[in-house]
Amino acid sequence: MDIRLTAEDAALKARARAFCDEVLIPLEDECEELGGLSPESLERAKRAVLEHGFNAINHAVEDGGQGYDVFQQVLIEEEWGRATGALWDIPWRPSIPLAVATEAQKDEYLRPACRGERRDCYAITEAGAGSDPTMVETTAVWDGDAWVLNGTKWHVTSGDVADFILVHAHVDGDPAKATIFLVDKDLPGVRVVRTPKYMHTFVFEHPIFAFEDVRLGPDKVLGEVGQGYELTKDWFVEERIMIGARTVGAATRALELSLDFAKGRVQFGKPIVEHQAIEFMLADMAAELMAAKSMLYRVAWQAARGGAGRKEIHALASAVKLVCSETAGRIIDRAVQIHGGRGYMREQPVERLYREIRVDRIWEGTSEIQRMVIGNELRKRGAAVYTGWPVAAERVGS
Ligand SMILES: Cc1cc2nc3c(=O)[nH]c(=O)nc-3n(C[C@H](O)[C@H](O)[C@H](O)COP(=O)(O)OP(=O)(O)OC[C@H]3O[C@@H](n4cnc5c(N)ncnc54)[C@H](O)[C@@H]3O)c2cc1C
Repeated sequence: MDIRLTAEDAALKARARAFCDEVLIPLEDECEELGGLSPESLERAKRAVLEHGFNAINHAVEDGGQGYDVFQQVLIEEEWGRATGALWDIPWRPSIPLAVATEAQKDEYLRPACRGERRDCYAITEAGAGSDPTMVETTAVWDGDAWVLNGTKWHVTSGDVADFILVHAHVDGDPAKATIFLVDKDLPGVRVVRTPKYMHTFVFEHPIFAFEDVRLGPDKVLGEVGQGYELTKDWFVEERIMIGARTVGAATRALELSLDFAKGRVQFGKPIVEHQAIEFMLADMAAELMAAKSMLYRVAWQAARGGAGRKEIHALASAVKLVCSETAGRIIDRAVQIHGGRGYMREQPVERLYREIRVDRIWEGTSEIQRMVIGNELRKRGAAVYTGWPVAAERVGS
C-alpha cells in the first residue's frame, strides 16, 4: 500500500494552490463588498482560468476539458475551496451529465462550455420538491411538433451567468419519465421570477426560474426520456465528492489562519496558543481535519483508480459529503472562537468561511439525506463498503 501522491499529482496540487493564492484570494474583498465581482474583474479571472489551463477540469480532452480524473479534481478543488465568496466557482466545470450528449449537442453546448464561451446551470429543486425529487412538478409534454415545458425551479446556482439550463422535468408528469432537457435561457417563456439573497456571499446568484410553455425540439433531450434520475445521480455523486474537497480546503485555511492568529495574539502575558483551551481547540481541528481528508482522498482514489463500481461510489460519496461538510463546520466554528471579536468581522476570512460552510450541509442533498443513503447501503449490502479496504489484484512490490 502506497498512500503517497505521485510527483505529477503533487505538482498539479501546487499549481491549483498558486492559482487560488494569485487569482482567487485577491478578489475576496471586492466580492464581499460588491456581493459579486465587477465585469472587469470577472473577465480577468476568466482569462486567468484559461491561461492556467483550469477550465472544465472534469471533462474529456476531446471535448475541450482537461481530462483530470476524480482524484486529481479533488486535489484541485481542495485548494480552491480555501477561497471565500465561492470564488472556486469561477473556474467553470460543465455539469458531468453533459458527457452523455450527442455529438451535435456537444458541439452546441458542451464544447463551447468547456472553452468558456457558454455556461450551464442545473435546475432540479422546486418550491415543493427538495430532498424528494419525485415531487417535481415541472412537466414536458410532446405536442406533435415540440416538447412543451412548464414549471418553476428554485435556487438555480449560477443561473445569472449561465446561458443554458439543464432542467430536470417529468415527461407527461410521470416521475418514471424524469428527463433532463437542455434549455437556452433566451428562449421565449424562460423568465427569472426573482433573485433572492442568501446567507453567504457567493460570486454568482441563485435565481428562481419560471418556464412557461417553452418549446423545445427533440434534440433538446439529454440522454434519453426516463434517464433523468440516473443523470442527476451522476451529477450528485461528482458534486458530493467535490463538496468534500472544497470543505476540507476551507477547513485547512481556517486552521492555518487560527494557528497564525493564536501565535501572534497575546493575552494574559502570553500568546493565546499557550493557553491550553486554545491549544486543545487547534489540536481537535487538526486531528478532525486529518480524518476527513484521509477519507476524502481514499474515496476519490477509489472512484478514479481503485476500480470501485458506480453504486459503491454513490454510497461512499454520501459518507464523504456528510463527514467533510460537518467536520469543516465544527473546525470553522472554532476558528471564529479563536479569533475572538475579529472572527465576527466580515473583513476576516474566517467570518466568511463560517457563513459559507453552512450550505454544504444542505445543498446536493442535506446531511439527513446522506445518512439515508448510507443507511440504505447498510441495510441492502451490509457494512463492508464502509469498513472494508480495496485490495490490489496482485501482490504490491512483488
Ligand atoms: C445556496 C443554494 C444553492 C442551491 N443550488 C441548487 C442548484 O443549483 N440546483 C438545484 O436543483 N438545487 C439547488 N439547491 C437546492 C438544494 O439542493 C436543496 O435546498 C436541498 O436539496 C434541500 O431541499 P429543500 O431545501 O427543499 O429542503 P427539504 O427537502 O424541504 O428539507 C427540509 C428539512 O427536512 C429534512 N428532510 C427531508 N426529508 C427527510 C427525510 N426523509 N428524513 C429526514 N429528514 C428529512 C431535510 O434534511 C431538511 O433538514 C440549492 C440550495 C441552496 C440553499
